[in-house]
Amino acid sequence: MDLLIVGAGFFGLTIAERAAAAGRKVVVIDKRAHIGGNAYSEADPETGIEIHRYGAHLFHTSNPSVWEYVNRFTTFTSYTHRVYSTHDGVVYPLPINLGTINQFFRAAYTPDEARALIKQQSGEFDSERAVNLEEKGIALIGRPLFEAFIRDYTAKQWQTDARDLPAEIISRLPVRYTYDNRYFNDTWEGLPTDGYTAWLERMVEHPNIEVRLSTDFFDASQSLNKQSVVGQVPVVYTGAVDRYFDYSEGELSWRTLDFEREVLDVGDFQGTSVMNYPDADVPYTRIHEFKHFHPERADRYPTDRTVIVREYSRFATAKDEPYYPVNAGRDREKLLAYRELTKIEPQVHFGGRLGTYQYLDMHMAIGSALSMWKNQLA
Ligand code: FAD
Ligand code: UDP
Repeated sequence: MDLLIVGAGFFGLTIAERAAAAGRKVVVIDKRAHIGGNAYSEADPETGIEIHRYGAHLFHTSNPSVWEYVNRFTTFTSYTHRVYSTHDGVVYPLPINLGTINQFFRAAYTPDEARALIKQQSGEFDSERAVNLEEKGIALIGRPLFEAFIRDYTAKQWQTDARDLPAEIISRLPVRYTYDNRYFNDTWEGLPTDGYTAWLERMVEHPNIEVRLSTDFFDASQSLNKQSVVGQVPVVYTGAVDRYFDYSEGELSWRTLDFEREVLDVGDFQGTSVMNYPDADVPYTRIHEFKHFHPERADRYPTDRTVIVREYSRFATAKDEPYYPVNAGRDREKLLAYRELTKIEPQVHFGGRLGTYQYLDMHMAIGSALSMWKNQLA
């Protein structure tokens, strides 16, 4: 073995694939019983509809190298992601665009008129100088739209004061003064034609790659554990950074999600793949209806049944899956301390969403793994 990779998510599998292609022998371990990390998907046992076990995953990127790389393993459908939001009993298009603005204010503003209105309503904060989610949100869309679509959704999603959350969380969402309601701004987007798992399996098809599932790096009873391996063989570690150091600098906080799946005897529940619920009196944040992710499979999916998943967000305990790094002030201090520790850890390369405590989309995880391979490991 030339390299041990801890974690079979997109970061770990990209490193494994590159290393194997360069003639290195690699072992990938994962404590879960399947590869793919959070991007794993499977057929719903009752309906056969592909569902994403750890929350819906939409692929999008503007990075040509990442797009070229991922197309070696899968083709993509022409799916374009659009999200709607039910506020006060009325459905609006997201992200905030001219359609949302005109519907919300019951008006017919032109792009320039809408811009002038939002400028007037956001005057209390300057977008360039906004230091937290609340200031940035209000600076981008003004207080009335912020209060309708963002304030309570964010409270449900993060249970953290919006003044203590980083501004970047909200900068992910575009604001447009046109009727374009594509959720992402990226050059390329789509869903893997035959599913995420088929894509992920093709990445590990090489004879130089051995995958060991249900294998925890911190379990001293299995041979490839932290004590036996570190210092002997280079390691790429994509598990949680605080866990690696036995929480010596304190625990980093994460949000987890509870998914409530329901099969319904209707052909179409909501007419679209994602409906957000930004109001405080609805306990969940959004509902996914998975059949809408693959309209091209209409002839293979049932016409009289559908599967929906309600998403509830809460703080993760040690037993839960860590999904979203909270990254509040106290987390940022701990993270700096962990970063210092990673610098002196022999031959261990920390990567991925858990290993760097960063909110990485799939294309970012793949892109940073390609860079780590090229710049540090190759
Ligand atoms: P992961 O996929 O988390 O993989 C890490 C792996 O390490 C896991 O399989 C874990 O079991 C394993 N591991 C951890 N500790 C150990 C250990 N001690 N021993 C062995 N194995 C261990 N991205 C998008 O681009 N579009 C989306 O629409 C999107 N939606 C998302 C929705 C949700 C709810 C979440 C949580 C994420 C979403 N993402 C999305 C982000 C995407 O999941 C990540 O970019 C991607 O999973 C990152 O890959 P990774 O390899 O860094 O981490
Ligand atoms: N957000 C919101 N209302 C919405 C959608 C998003 O307030 O209807 C905010 C919220 O803080 C969320 C962030 O924008 O965490 C990023 O949203 P995105 O849809 O990208 O979140 P993800 O799909 O990653 O959960």
